This record gives sequence, C-alpha cells and structure tokens, in this order.
Amino acid sequence: MPIYEYSCKKCAKKFELLRRFSDTAEVTCPKCGAVEVERKVSAFSCGTGGGYGGGYSGGSSCAPRASS
Ligand SMILES: [Zn+2]
Repeated sequence: MPIYEYSCKKCAKKFELLRRFSDTAEVTCPKCGAVEVERKVSAFSCGTGGGYGGGYSGGSSCAPRASS
C-alpha cells in the first residue's frame, strides 16, 4: 500500500497517509482540517516497472522527481 505525502495548503502542515489506490475519499489536514491539501508522490510509485507482488525491493533507489 502506498504512502502518500501531503502538505496542507492552508497551514503548510506536512503529513503522510496510507492510501489504497481505490481510496478516493477526501483527505483533510490533521491540524486545521482543511481539504485543500496537496498530494505528493511517495517513494513507492517511482515507475521502475511495477510488479510489487512478491517483495518490494529497492525502496529508496529512485531519486525523487523534481517538482515542476
Ligand atoms: Zn492545515
């Protein structure tokens, strides 16, 4: 299950959440309750070919993508 990193646009609080891919429920800031949060891509989804059925290896081997 991927861990997503969020940062609140209102209070700039950063937090992480475990989310299923199918989970589309709103994410709210745990500090101020705002729904205006920005999701950042986690280290999990770094596009190295997928296939995480047997063992998720090389977790930190992919460099973070530059924010555009
Ligand atoms: Zn907030």
